Amino acid sequence: MTQISQRVENLSASATLTMLQKTNELRAAGIDIIGMSAGEPDFNTPEHIKRAACEAIAQNYSRYSAVAGYESLRKAICGKLLSENGLDYTPNQIVVGNGAKQELANTLLATVNPGDEVIIPTPAWVSYVEMVKLAEGNPVLVPGNPENNFKITPSQLEDAITPRTKVLMLNSPCNPTGCVYSRDELTALAEVLRRYPDILILSDEIYEHINYVGGVSSIASCPGMKDRTVIINGVSKAYAMTGWRIGFLAAPIALAKAVTKLQGQYTSGASSIAQKAAEAAYLGSQECVEEMRLAFQRRRDLICSLADEISGWKTSRPDGAFYIFPNVAALIGKHCGSRVISSAGDYVMYLLEEANVACVDGAAFCADGFIRLSYATSDDNIREAMRRIREATLRLSD
Ligand code: PMP
Ligand code: GLU
Repeated sequence: MTQISQRVENLSASATLTMLQKTNELRAAGIDIIGMSAGEPDFNTPEHIKRAACEAIAQNYSRYSAVAGYESLRKAICGKLLSENGLDYTPNQIVVGNGAKQELANTLLATVNPGDEVIIPTPAWVSYVEMVKLAEGNPVLVPGNPENNFKITPSQLEDAITPRTKVLMLNSPCNPTGCVYSRDELTALAEVLRRYPDILILSDEIYEHINYVGGVSSIASCPGMKDRTVIINGVSKAYAMTGWRIGFLAAPIALAKAVTKLQGQYTSGASSIAQKAAEAAYLGSQECVEEMRLAFQRRRDLICSLADEISGWKTSRPDGAFYIFPNVAALIGKHCGSRVISSAGDYVMYLLEEANVACVDGAAFCADGFIRLSYATSDDNIREAMRRIREATLRLSD
């Protein structure tokens, strides 16, 4: 038998994708599961974007693109960064890849040496710690205080910095907490970072457009930060295009070149057809983005009001993304018959089997005692899921 490498043996499987797989298996077995585990918009990709992909096929966009992506797409991304973020980039600073996920991993692989420290505010998306481990770096977790909407403070950041710190990962709006760093909060973090000029900031802005606070800022727009920040973004969330697999980074030229070299040996350019679709997304009307944002906002309000009715849950109101992240610690130790809930993970399995609702254990996001539910699903599904969860939770006793 082939021995699996230590690198992969040490890696945890993606909890979000594992739960999605489990949901699909149960559905295939005829069980009516409401899926609130994976974070992906339930909307279809807008028509004008799909049409652009069909046209790209007809026009024979069937060959390898440049490794960093078609120049026309990178120009369109520069246009987006200028008009929406006020940030001036040139196409040679942009690298397009298979989703934001690939560009996050690429950046870490291109910058982290074995033993370098990467600061990750937690709760954090499931893949961050594992990507840092893949790059042989040491993840340094900094827990955001729930009383501060899970955001880290400048003094927490400063305390976590050591001479080995290489990268700070930021994610605003955040998956899983939905917290959004205000302009003032980013400015305060930037003030600390100015004292440590060698630290790179990896700013994951994939939920940029899904926010309920009238817009979000990028730390790259704080004075002195652009030349040491890598912005990560893509079309998955804003344009309901998770399956198309297009994301990008915007970085200082030397770093963009390094990532391009890596990508050239690893995956080459992303799908030619999906790139042309993404170009249409950035160049076309942005009305679809606002329509979907409004739907998510309505669902956020709905799910928060229903979550407040569930005994044993303490739920903060998210300012962005499409997740709620209730604290369910009060339920730990309760039981239903002989079944004891001894962790949030047990509660997730209980909800899957007894309420037929799929969600994710907060432990996968480095937060014990919490669970994550995605509300990127219909209002009816949200109402029914919360009804089932309320009833199943009421069956738990001391
Ligand atoms: N960052 C965060 C915080 C995410 O939740 C996701 C969702 N998968 C990604 C990055 C990756 O997005 P994608 O690869 O689909 O562009
Ligand atoms: N970002 C989504 C989530 O957190 C998609 C699944 C994944 O890539 O992890 O559920």
